[in-house]
Amino acid sequence: MVEPKTENRKPKIIFLGPPGSGKGTQGNRIAKEFNLDFISIGDILREEIKKESELGKKVRSYVESGALVPDELILELIRNRVDNVDNSEYEGFILDGFPRTVEQANGLKEITEIDKVIYLKCDTETIVKRLSARRICPKCARVYNLVTNLPQEDELCNDCGVKLEHRVDDCESVIRDRIKVYETHTLPLLDFYQSQLRVINADSDIEEVYCTAKNNCK
Ligand code: AMP
Repeated sequence: MVEPKTENRKPKIIFLGPPGSGKGTQGNRIAKEFNLDFISIGDILREEIKKESELGKKVRSYVESGALVPDELILELIRNRVDNVDNSEYEGFILDGFPRTVEQANGLKEITEIDKVIYLKCDTETIVKRLSARRICPKCARVYNLVTNLPQEDELCNDCGVKLEHRVDDCESVIRDRIKVYETHTLPLLDFYQSQLRVINADSDIEEVYCTAKNNCK
C-alpha cells in the first residue's frame, strides 16, 4: 500500500482515464481488496437521478447527454464523502471519475492531498466497442459485456436475475461526445498530476490491467 506520510494518513488514489477505460471495474475490485472507499461520482449522480431528488433533477440532462455537470455541484458532493474517509474504517479511498477538470483538481487540492494517480490509457475505438456492448445490473451494479463477458442467461444478471440495462449515455454518438469532453477538459490533468502519475495500458486483457493497476496502488 501507499506509505502513509504521517501516522494518520490514509492512501488517496485517483483513477483517471477516458470513459470505458475500466476505472470503475478495476477501481472497485482493487478498493475492495485494500479496504479503500470506492467513490464513483457517476454512480452517485445516477443514484440521485433514479431517486428523482432535487440534485438528480438538476444533473439529469448533463449526464444523459454526456456533458459535464457544473464543477460547484460536483465539488459539494465530493467534499463530504472525502472528509468522512479519515474518520471511517476505510484505509483510504479510490476516486473514479473525479476530478474531470483542472478546476475540480484545484478544488480537491484544497480538500485533501492525493498520493497516486493511476492513468488507464485506452484507444478510442476500443472504448466505443466496449461501451456499446456494456450492460449493467441495475440492482448490484455488476458490469457485463455482450461480446467479452456475457451473462449466463440472456441479458440477466448472474447474481440477481434482474434484466441488465444499457446506460442511455452508452450509445455511439454520446460515447463519442464523452470522449471529446474528456480530451478537452480531463486530459490536461495529466500535466496537473505529473508527479503522482502512473501510466497503465488499459487496452490489454482485463486481468492483466487489474494486476498492473493493483501493483501500482501498493
Ligand atoms: P461516468 O459514470 O464516470 O462515466 O460519468 C457519467 C456522467 O456523469 C458523465 O458523463 C458526466 O455527465 C457526469 N459526471 C461524472 N463525474 C463527473 C465530474 N467529475 N464532473 C462533471 N460531471 C461528471
